[in-house]
Amino acid sequence: MDTHVIDGTALSRRLRSDLAARAAALAARGVRPGLVAIEVGEHPASRVYVRNKLKACAEVGLHSEHVELPDATSEPELLARIRALNEDPRIHGILVQLPLPKRITAERVLSAVTPGKDVDAFHPLNVGLLAAGNARFVPCTPAAVIAILEAEGVNPWAQHAVIVGASNIVGKPAALLLLQRGATVTICNSKTRDLADHTSRADILVVAVGKPRLVTGAMVKPGAVVIDVGINRLPDGKLAGDCDFPSLVGVAARATPVPGGVGPMTITMLLANTIRAAELATQESPA
Ligand code: NAP
Repeated sequence: MDTHVIDGTALSRRLRSDLAARAAALAARGVRPGLVAIEVGEHPASRVYVRNKLKACAEVGLHSEHVELPDATSEPELLARIRALNEDPRIHGILVQLPLPKRITAERVLSAVTPGKDVDAFHPLNVGLLAAGNARFVPCTPAAVIAILEAEGVNPWAQHAVIVGASNIVGKPAALLLLQRGATVTICNSKTRDLADHTSRADILVVAVGKPRLVTGAMVKPGAVVIDVGINRLPDGKLAGDCDFPSLVGVAARATPVPGGVGPMTITMLLANTIRAAELATQESPA
């Protein structure tokens, strides 16, 4: 079997040119969509992610701001900063980069972002809307998974989708989105007995665990579509996914590489959510 390697970078480039056109249409009416990324403390990985997100904003014509707060920032100080940004008309999307320092309760902070600017879709109201099948914003990484499937012409309807990983950020929302598109969904977690028994039944396999090369080609059904969400830094500094990509080749019909698969598409979905937030705020959503 020939395995088609899904190029998330090329797909991102295509989608970002459409997003730039939407941003330009808003700008022509005097609205420049704006995103703020808030970072608390020093996290080298977070720094790279935030820098990439802000760079992507500039590429499609979005205004962006980076709020860097010291590690000693208290929760009330952070909440006050978020409340000010909730009222700032130049800002349409507010992103709080995780992880936060342990003494800050992430749930309280994420709930403080006004739902209309919650472009990560982590606010309980947006989580509820997504679960009810009426999402205002879809969390960026699961949205990237769906956008990749759509671009590849893979329809989840009546397919068996297996999600490995059940986090609030990736696994659970990805499962809901696939369920809403007609898939029969199995969600695996760290307690799952005989993981391979589940993965080998998947027509669509989404892996979001954070363990390098956990899923190998021997665990995959021939002809499956494999979406690897994992990003793991190996001791030699290289990036690896949660799947052992070389062993998928010849087994999967389609598979995403790491890097160059879901990663760039996640940032593209953040840009899309920020533009959507600006459109909604100005009552110009095409949706
Ligand atoms: P997370 O919050 O740590 O959740 C990991 C999930 O995997 C948990 O549900 C855990 O189960 C499950 N798990 C752990 N070991 C397992 C095993 N052996 N078999 C089956 N399930 C297992 O991680 P996350 O935030 O979802 O991120 C997952 C990966 O995606 C990471 O590598 C992360 O860097 C990457 N990521 C990539 C992007 C992107 O843009 N590409 C975005 C976000 C995350 P329990 O629920 O039982 O603990």
